[in-house]
Amino acid sequence: MSATVKDMIIARSRVALKHKYGDQSQFDTQRGGRSTVHVNRLAGRARPVRCQELQISANGFGNLKQGKQLQAILTPVSDPAPTTKKRVFTFGKGKSEGNKGMKSLLGGKGANLAEMASIGLSVPPGLTISTEACQEYQLNGKKLPDGLWEEILEGLESVEEDMGAFLGDPSKPLLLSVRSGAAISMPGMMDTVLNLGLNDEVVAGLAAKSGERFAYDSYRRFLDMFGDVVMGISHSLFEEKLENLKNVKGVKLDTELTASDLKELVEQYKSVYIEARGENFPSDPKKQLQLAIKAVFDSWDSSRAIKYRSINQITGLKGTAVNIQCMVFGNMGNTSGTGVLFTRNPSTGEKKLYGEFLINAQGEDVVAGIRTPEHLDTMENCMPDAYKELVENCEILERHYKDMMDIEFTVQDNRLWMLQCRSGKRTGKCAVKIAVDMVNEGLVDTRTAIKMVEPQHLDQLLHPQFEDPSAYKDKVVAKGLPASPGAAVGQVVFSADDAEAWHAQGKSAILVRTETSPEDVGGMHVATGILTARGGMTSHAAVVARGWGKCCVSGCADIRVNDAEKVVLVGDKVIHEGEWISLNGSTGEVILGKQPLSPPALSGDLEIFMSWADKIRRIKVMANADTPEDAFTARNNGAEGIGLCRTEHMFFASDERIKAVRKMIMAVTLEQRKAALDLLLPYQRSDFEGIFRAMDGLPVTIRLLDPPLHEFLPEGDLEHIVHELTADTGMTEDDVYSRIEKLSEVNPMLGFRGCRLGISYPELTEMQVRAIFQAAVNMSNQGVKIFPEIMVPLIGTPQELGHQVRLIRDVAKKVFSEMGSSLGYKVGTMIEIPRAALVADEIAKEAEFFSFGTNDLTQMTFGYSRDDVGKFLPIYLSKGILQHDPFEVLDQKGVGQLIKLATEKGRAARPSLKVGICGEHGGEPSSVAFFAEAGLDYVSCSPFRVPIARLAAAQVAV
Ligand code: PEP
Ligand code: MG
Repeated sequence: MSATVKDMIIARSRVALKHKYGDQSQFDTQRGGRSTVHVNRLAGRARPVRCQELQISANGFGNLKQGKQLQAILTPVSDPAPTTKKRVFTFGKGKSEGNKGMKSLLGGKGANLAEMASIGLSVPPGLTISTEACQEYQLNGKKLPDGLWEEILEGLESVEEDMGAFLGDPSKPLLLSVRSGAAISMPGMMDTVLNLGLNDEVVAGLAAKSGERFAYDSYRRFLDMFGDVVMGISHSLFEEKLENLKNVKGVKLDTELTASDLKELVEQYKSVYIEARGENFPSDPKKQLQLAIKAVFDSWDSSRAIKYRSINQITGLKGTAVNIQCMVFGNMGNTSGTGVLFTRNPSTGEKKLYGEFLINAQGEDVVAGIRTPEHLDTMENCMPDAYKELVENCEILERHYKDMMDIEFTVQDNRLWMLQCRSGKRTGKCAVKIAVDMVNEGLVDTRTAIKMVEPQHLDQLLHPQFEDPSAYKDKVVAKGLPASPGAAVGQVVFSADDAEAWHAQGKSAILVRTETSPEDVGGMHVATGILTARGGMTSHAAVVARGWGKCCVSGCADIRVNDAEKVVLVGDKVIHEGEWISLNGSTGEVILGKQPLSPPALSGDLEIFMSWADKIRRIKVMANADTPEDAFTARNNGAEGIGLCRTEHMFFASDERIKAVRKMIMAVTLEQRKAALDLLLPYQRSDFEGIFRAMDGLPVTIRLLDPPLHEFLPEGDLEHIVHELTADTGMTEDDVYSRIEKLSEVNPMLGFRGCRLGISYPELTEMQVRAIFQAAVNMSNQGVKIFPEIMVPLIGTPQELGHQVRLIRDVAKKVFSEMGSSLGYKVGTMIEIPRAALVADEIAKEAEFFSFGTNDLTQMTFGYSRDDVGKFLPIYLSKGILQHDPFEVLDQKGVGQLIKLATEKGRAARPSLKVGICGEHGGEPSSVAFFAEAGLDYVSCSPFRVPIARLAAAQVAV
């Protein structure tokens, strides 16, 4: 049967068969047993046909073996909806049952192997067991679900046919790799078994074919890896035997062991199974395969994989796929080798292959950072043909995927094999450069380019760099690989646990390790920077750190890490735990002491890229800024105005201010309060002037005083507080005591705060509004374009807002007449109490704009105190009760619905209503996407997150 036709039948396509003699009939095909296809005549009786019987040539003419000529017209069914789900997908030799769009089912690795094979690259044939099968396995009490093993064997048979080699057959031995691969890459977190299929008989066959030393080296590696990964026997038990043997034989390197040494080692390794497990090594290759598949499925649920998913907020996946593939060997001598590469430099984005290569090695040696590999360029000299093909493949893959790719390959006896390709993890700088370059190269358009940079990538570009790298030259003590750029300054720790403990104490830790392992992810995540003595640019530390945008220097051969003594030796210098060091992840420099950092700037490629994002997005991005300095930063980062100026933050700017505030709080009579407010007015006015000037031409939304007043009181024990307040206010101790008692609240966040203050003390609102309009008129007289918006906090009823709106308008009138000048302004409100959202139509009659305060709105919708949520949130997240911290990622189902409802109701009552959001969610990409889709006019976020919000807004528009 022609491959195409067989494939289509297996994919449950509908085949319309036209009988040679004019009998035109519709047939449906179903897969029956191993090689039987049931061809059901749609209007007639079902007729089973053996696969081999159906001969259909490429031009569509074929025959049934029993002599009946047929013409086949193949029409794929638009909805193939199988009766049972397909769980095993084969690939290789120019054809595949999967493709790159099937990541959720086949995992990233499986989908891309299928894709590479189908576009004609040489991929060792194999099969992928789906993530759904993994899910079934987990639900089935960790047993292979019914029928899966038979499907696997069937897939294996097809691979064996392709290869002309068979699992367990000593005369034509087929060895397999068994690897995990989830839909989202989780580097090093799950298990892999290589060289599967070896036993005493097969190894003899392999030796006859490929040499004794190679065969027994592969066998001992397999026994070790299979024991460790599948049978739970510690790798160190095998390592011990190896070291002993090397000592006995008087050799240093594994490569110096002879074939007969390795044979001896194999026997010793087999005895490890009996010593550790009380059972023999399972020599049946099919049994090995079954156990390895189960081990990979099990590794989905290992504690390190769970931790990695939780740190990276990876949720909603079905499980890991399992990729079973014919082994190819990079360790067959000097015409073989293995390597990893990025099609462009993953740190800088430079358009040049960037990778590492090891002659006579297996892939795991490179990825695990066990041997420090050489630059990829060395391959060009020693294997020119394979190198040429590799370069061509990289170009094909970049054009095909329209992305920078991360590739693993092996050369076996000068023949190139592609083992993996995926979108390359990259730094923020690299992501932006590649997006801009690929537009210039004509590979993608600007709308596609917008999706090539993750909003979090920008975070890295917006983080500080060293102020002056030339100033610390004499403090550079070592140099490693620039594995993940940026600058890090912190105190040295030597274990991931210590990094977590130090971080919990509010310290900046730099994690220094010989090499990192997946168990270290918790500590790596909280560390300010990572320094490793071993491992290349693709070592575990490098890959993980780059993904997080965390500064990392890897492969720093100049240092020796002594975990036991908690010291790191650099030449004759000894650095102890807790000492400060600085890392430059862009140059690989390790620098003594705390080096000063400077803020980043938006320029070059980033500026070009952001201009594309701005053209595409519809929602505006404003900033939360309380000082003229913040306002300048916001503007430099592209803010289109200030969406929230929290006036209370200005009160902490100096001793005089806070003293005046305390006088105002402690005041008992109206006169006392007014006197204190008079002191505050000039401070507020000058701050507003600075902000208006910084935001010349753009709107500035100023919120009236919001927090509970006790937040302005000094901290400490009561005696200390009273002492300070008597000094600040000139009141007697007794008066201070009685006032403090009156101010104290059981639940301040639901207490005397927000508009309740301005309603109870109208003179407070009056002072703030007066300061705003005086500043506005003054600046406007100097030619600055002013668009002030006054925002009333924490209202729950239209009456509350009405009260404040009237007051604000009265004061505005007074100030304009006093100053002989007037200007336009808006009055609006925050929506942060659920009741306000529910009666938004009534509120909109009083408000010209709404700004959702999603911090308080989340607090009050969930009933979680913003200040106390930390006590139970980690438990909720670890138990899966919540998927995200709702104060970080907007709860779209609850809080989000209140936002949608209030927006609709508000706009129905006042069509010109301007609607935005100014809670922390305004800078969180998935929340920004929600706000944009909900039709809000703007988001407002911290000045540093403005570019992130701009990009997220553009991405949702694309
Ligand atoms: C909010 O509640 O979302 C808000 C912006 O106000 P604050 O955080 O100052 O309470
Ligand atoms: Mg609030």
